Amino acid sequence: MLISAATDAYQNSDRTAANRIVRRVALWGIVVSVALLALTVVIAAVSHSFALTAVAVDCIVDVVAALVLWLGLRLSERKTAAFPYGLYKIENVLQVAIAVLIFIASYEIARQAFATGRQAPSIGGLIIAGVVVTIVATWAYGWYAMRWGKRVSSPALMADGKHRQTDVLSTSLALVAVVSTAAGFDIDRVGAFVILGFAVYSGWGLLVSGMKVLLDASVDAKTLAQIERILASEALIEQVDALAVRSSGRYVFLEATLRLRTDNLAKAHVAGERLEEQIRSTLPAVERVSLRLEPSHRDVLHVAVPLASAEGEISSEFGEAPVFGLAEVRTADGQALRQEIVENPHRGVEKQKGILVAEWLVGQGIDVLITVRAVNKGPSYVLREAGVEMRLARTARLADELALFAHDGHTDGS
Ligand SMILES: [Zn+2]
Repeated sequence: MLISAATDAYQNSDRTAANRIVRRVALWGIVVSVALLALTVVIAAVSHSFALTAVAVDCIVDVVAALVLWLGLRLSERKTAAFPYGLYKIENVLQVAIAVLIFIASYEIARQAFATGRQAPSIGGLIIAGVVVTIVATWAYGWYAMRWGKRVSSPALMADGKHRQTDVLSTSLALVAVVSTAAGFDIDRVGAFVILGFAVYSGWGLLVSGMKVLLDASVDAKTLAQIERILASEALIEQVDALAVRSSGRYVFLEATLRLRTDNLAKAHVAGERLEEQIRSTLPAVERVSLRLEPSHRDVLHVAVPLASAEGEISSEFGEAPVFGLAEVRTADGQALRQEIVENPHRGVEKQKGILVAEWLVGQGIDVLITVRAVNKGPSYVLREAGVEMRLARTARLADELALFAHDGHTDGS
């Protein structure tokens, strides 16, 4: 218990450290993007180059995207039951607004590029140096975001890093355009069109992801099915009371209320950690997992007892027992609500019989297993993981053992 508590503390501090790193990188993203926007606006205005104006448009996108990234991380830190649904949508409103802005700006630049009597671009050494600085800074930040994104496995940072690689490409095209224009071969307008193509493409991405969230689209059916499958595979979960999965641009937020088969807090905590890890490794787009674990107050216990025969005498074997008595016992008064004798389906198996039987019993949804001797290590591990309570038999017969529940219930109540 102490060891597991220490491990949890370590993991939690690890995660907080990772969040801090992601926020720091995102903050640098804002600083770099704002600086590059200022630089490109200046060199575009001075040079009258349409290619550079197009680069400046993309820089506006980057500033907003960096803000959205940072804002999203700030908001997603609050992982309480009272999730601020409303606030998250600010970033999606921003996404749609910026997409519209890109379309208008692109149209305007394209229109002016084709207007007659426009001013010819004048490219000097300083302008070219400015473009080179833009490329280097964009590449450096993209590498930085990608490196840390991989290290702390943040899908948002990796996406940002990847986008900057595209920016390096489009700004390099601008460099080719200005250099060749300076050399007397004016391909400024062609360059501008290609770069605007990039900008419109990323604007389209923003528009689609923003609108999806604003129109309250859930994640796709496949992702949802995967999450449900993971939750269903966890033996400790008795019931999924609520499951909300929302995609917010490149983030997926998952919020679930789970009723557990145990009232043991340490066990519930471990199950929660295990689920979160499994969800994250299966779906890397999941940025935050928020699980509410409700221990169950059980009105009915599902009890299993290995029997020597259908007559009801308790077997001293577990894996070897020919039949099992399965009963539902009301905890309030010990009344057996249902009872059946089921054949052990794994009796004939050669190897790992105990584990197979334990897994079968877990599949039957049992809460309590009563045996004559303590169950072997392997099967008892399976049972414990699933939150099954193991008790030693105090009588020789199933009926007497079930009758003890009435007695236990009575003494508990008085
Ligand atoms: Zn960009």
